[in-house]
Amino acid sequence: MKEKINPSEILSGKGSIDIITGPMFSGKSDELIRRLTIAGIAIKTMQNAGVLTEADLDQRIMVFKPTIDKRRGERTVNSENGQSYPAIPIENANRALELITKDTLIVAFDEAQFWSEDDLVETCRELARKKGLKVIVVGLSLNFKGEKWGGIGVLALEAEHPDFLSAVCTKCGDAAIFTQRIIEEDSNGKKIRRPASYNDPVEVVGGTNLYEARCRQHHEVPGRPGKNKS
Ligand SMILES: [Zn+2]
Repeated sequence: MKEKINPSEILSGKGSIDIITGPMFSGKSDELIRRLTIAGIAIKTMQNAGVLTEADLDQRIMVFKPTIDKRRGERTVNSENGQSYPAIPIENANRALELITKDTLIVAFDEAQFWSEDDLVETCRELARKKGLKVIVVGLSLNFKGEKWGGIGVLALEAEHPDFLSAVCTKCGDAAIFTQRIIEEDSNGKKIRRPASYNDPVEVVGGTNLYEARCRQHHEVPGRPGKNKS
């Protein structure tokens, strides 16, 4: 993969958008943390060399996540393999416009599917085009039903660096681009697992939500309307 962190792009002031999307378990947050780590080293090196003025790294690179995502660490981005990176929780993506400083060069949004499409898209356009920043947007572009979720897919159409990651289908080992929702329920003392239906509520009483990556053939959504029912 061609390196996505390019110091001349960061310093150009022209702005750009990176998209890192794919199903759950595709390593999106790992890839974000990898890029931020490289960017941090590049920025520190440029500051030491006098190419950039001295500023704190947490002002140069600002990472935001939705307040709704509290699964692991409220103030960090967390990857599947245990890495983390500091992040600021915000209710709406546009709050980032008030929190960036004159020193900010890179703005990243993790789990960006949780903000509304308009909020995310307009905020990223303003940060990239008007403020001239490098913007990195990470998250799912499809929900478990296989339908568009939030604004990431829209931004991918205009991104300088759109990356679509895949995971491994838990049924066949092929490349997986869908996220399968599974509900685990107690049935007469036995645990049963079933694919979540199109109309299952977000929280199923007496059930646990589990997720797996699946290929197109093994992605199941019982009750899905339309021609391509499964
Ligand atoms: Zn499969």
